Amino acid sequence: MNVERREKLYEGKAKIVYETNRPDLIIQYFKDDATAFNALKKGTILGKGVINNRMSAALFEVLERAGVPTHYLGTLSDREMLCRRLEIIKIEAVARNIVAGSLAKRTGLEEGTIIKQPIVELYYKSDPLGDPMLNDDHVRMLRLATPAELIRIRRMTLRINAILRPHLARRGLLLVDFKLEFGRRGRKLYLGDEISPDTCRLWDSRSKERLDKDRFRRDMGGVEEAYQEVYRRLVPAGA
Ligand code: UDP
Repeated sequence: MNVERREKLYEGKAKIVYETNRPDLIIQYFKDDATAFNALKKGTILGKGVINNRMSAALFEVLERAGVPTHYLGTLSDREMLCRRLEIIKIEAVARNIVAGSLAKRTGLEEGTIIKQPIVELYYKSDPLGDPMLNDDHVRMLRLATPAELIRIRRMTLRINAILRPHLARRGLLLVDFKLEFGRRGRKLYLGDEISPDTCRLWDSRSKERLDKDRFRRDMGGVEEAYQEVYRRLVPAGA
């Protein structure tokens, strides 16, 4: 496929999205820039863009093989991913298997508490508002998704969790929680965005060592090493 990069469509905190010569395709470019706490904390994680691109590609391929439609079409370079162009739904769907982060704060449960039945939370993808949590009625009121789409988003999020959790466990990683974004194309929903240590909490199964963006958020050090370790476990050499 002969796809050429064209105008920048959108620049986010960690990625740039480009148009291509094909109206139905975009290119995601993964940067090393990192932000946390609604961009109050800014920094760089060297090599992160390459790792997030390659790791997302590997996980999108796992999901596609399991029958989950994703926007992923192929890897163009170390930092560039070719994707279907979607109409992005402005909801962040978070799945949780173990209590951490904002759930620990909101509930008073200790970080590390196992959640017997995985849960899904919805957040409004809005930088000016700081991504507030939403319930189904808010989603309907804001017309972010139809009730039927919301049911599918929840179902797909749980299904993706059920696929990724054992896949990561086999590689010595606990999938604590993660954030997904979806987009529509016609009547079909696709998983969009990325799946990486920026968007997942991943703990070493044995030591419970944090191998994700929490090392950056919480100034724990060893950030680059953690991303590399996840990459080493997930992306087969030479992929
Ligand atoms: N997350 C994300 N982008 C966001 C907010 C959260 O990718 O804008 C991910 C985060 O990495 C974690 C999960 O969603 O894997 C749940 O995050 P949480 O609600 O605990 O928020 P945090 O503690 O990160 O503020």
